[in-house]
Amino acid sequence: MESQFKNLQQLLDFFKDEQICKDWYENQRWGGHIACPHCGNAGKIYRTNRGFKCGEKLCGKKFTVISGTIFENTKVSLRIWFGAMYLISTSKKGVSSLQLAEQLGVTQKTAWFLNHRIRAMLTDSASESFGDVVQIDETLVGGLNKNRHADKKHKNTQGGKGKSIVFGARSITGKVKTLVIPNTEIATILPVVQKWIDKGSIMVTDEARQYHLSLDADFFHVSINHSEGQYSSGCFTTNNMENFWSTFKRGIIGIYHYVSPQHLQRYATEFEYRYNNRQDTGVEKFETAVKGADSKRLTYDTLTGK
Ligand SMILES: [Zn+2]
Repeated sequence: MESQFKNLQQLLDFFKDEQICKDWYENQRWGGHIACPHCGNAGKIYRTNRGFKCGEKLCGKKFTVISGTIFENTKVSLRIWFGAMYLISTSKKGVSSLQLAEQLGVTQKTAWFLNHRIRAMLTDSASESFGDVVQIDETLVGGLNKNRHADKKHKNTQGGKGKSIVFGARSITGKVKTLVIPNTEIATILPVVQKWIDKGSIMVTDEARQYHLSLDADFFHVSINHSEGQYSSGCFTTNNMENFWSTFKRGIIGIYHYVSPQHLQRYATEFEYRYNNRQDTGVEKFETAVKGADSKRLTYDTLTGK
C-alpha cells in the first residue's frame, strides 16, 4: 500500500477507516514479519479474530497490532493519531493543541495529550557520529528577565531566575542534538561532550566560558569571540547553532507561548527532530514519526506528574 498525501485532507481520505489504518500499520510495524511484543518471538504467530496469538509455548499471549505501542489503551482512533502525527511532524514550527483540536475535530484535552505523546516520540534516535567539526553552544530559555542576550553572556547561568539552560551540538552535516542541563559547570558539560563527540574533533564554540578550557585536552578548539565583534574564524562559525536556537525560541514564544521547565526537553527534542529532518518530504516525515510509535510509551500520569 503506497502512501502518498500532500495535506491532512488527503491523509484522512487515505486512512478512511480503522481497518485500513490497522492493515497499513501492521505492514509499517512488522513488514510481514510479525513479532510478539510480549516475548519477542517472531516465529509461529497465529491470527485470531481480534489480532494475534503468540505460538511460543511459554508465552502464548494474545496481542494486537497496537499492543506495546503509544496507540495502546487510548480511546483515540488510529485515524486521528495518524492525522495528529502528520500535522506535528510536517509542521515547520510546531502545532498548538488548539490548532490540533480544530483541525482534527477532537477536544482540546485529547489534542493536548496527543501533542505531548507524539512529541515525546519524535526523539531523533539516529546515533550517527557527529563528524570532524562540531559547533557547541548553550542557550537560556524562559524566565522573567527580558534581557536574554546580556544574560547569556553571564558566566554562571545557574542563578538565572526561572530560566532553563539548553546545551546543543551541531555537526558539519547539519544534525543537531540538544540536552536540558542544570548548570554550565565543567562536571555537567564534559561528560555530555565526551559521550556525543569523538576525541580529536574540531570543536567550535563562541566566547570562552569556563568549560571550554577543559575541552582543549581532547579536542581542537576554535573559539569565536562575539564580544569583540567576531562572527567566524576562517571557515569556522557558530552561526548555525545560533540559528537553531533562534528558531527554537521563536517557536516556543510564537506557538506555545510558555513552556514549563519539566516539558522543555520534549520541546527541544521536537525542534531537533524538525531541524534534522528538514530535507525530508511530508510523507517521509510522517513515516519516520510512525516508526517511533512502538519504542516509547508515555502515560497521562507521567505527563501530569501524578
Ligand atoms: Zn510471545
